Amino acid sequence: MMTSQQKAELWARITRAKHLTAFTGAGVSTLSGIRDFRGSTGVYSSKWHGHEVEEILSLECFLAHPELFYEWAKEFVYCLEKYQPSAVHRGLAQLQQRGMLVRTYTQNIDCLHTAAGSRNVGELHGSPAHHHCLRCGKEFPYSAISPLVLADKVPYCPSCGGLVKPDIVFYSENLNEALLEEAYSDMERSDLLLVLGSSLTVQPAASLPLYTLRAGGDIVLVNQQETYLDGQAKMRFDDLEEVFCFLLEQLSESPVKDGGDSSVR
Ligand SMILES: [Zn+2]
Repeated sequence: MMTSQQKAELWARITRAKHLTAFTGAGVSTLSGIRDFRGSTGVYSSKWHGHEVEEILSLECFLAHPELFYEWAKEFVYCLEKYQPSAVHRGLAQLQQRGMLVRTYTQNIDCLHTAAGSRNVGELHGSPAHHHCLRCGKEFPYSAISPLVLADKVPYCPSCGGLVKPDIVFYSENLNEALLEEAYSDMERSDLLLVLGSSLTVQPAASLPLYTLRAGGDIVLVNQQETYLDGQAKMRFDDLEEVFCFLLEQLSESPVKDGGDSSVR
């Protein structure tokens, strides 16, 4: 449980921050009921029908057996409508709407930050909001592809017959370099970074907070499991829901900024 002193300190840090950034991982999605498909929480097996998720999500496998990916994805990707943004998604969106949060970066591919109202979300692992034809490059939105996948069809381009791939980053693919550069630069400029629901075990998640720390900024860490940066966080909590229910309460009492007050920013 958060003490009232911790609550006051957290709120003070957030309202004082001049460049507040957030980074979110799988723990934020599980709060919305989404299973962590990488199995990194240890709650679920990383195997699906005898296949490693790393195999299903490799580009090589996708090109050879797109039907395997799309069958898996029915359960893990093309079911966005089933899930609602959590207190974390809503809290971050409200912080941004009040001009208190610069940007949210995420490893998650469920579009829930955008659904909650966050703008310009830095989706480091891409998202199924967009797809493209691997042959001619034609683009397709989620709404065009999802019904096909749910009907057990592999989507092919109506223009050229090429295979259609969601713009999520597969295991063998590189992250979007330009977006990664934006993330590094934002982390460096952050005087406060909220690290939420990430165990910081895979790259680039593991190194992102280091950009803030090395530049003299502070991090606040909220994660169920321990992370290697726990000792360097100014504040550290286990329970995302508790922290964000508190923040939502505070936000409901603070009006959307109109610029006419004597705030520190
Ligand atoms: Zn095409």
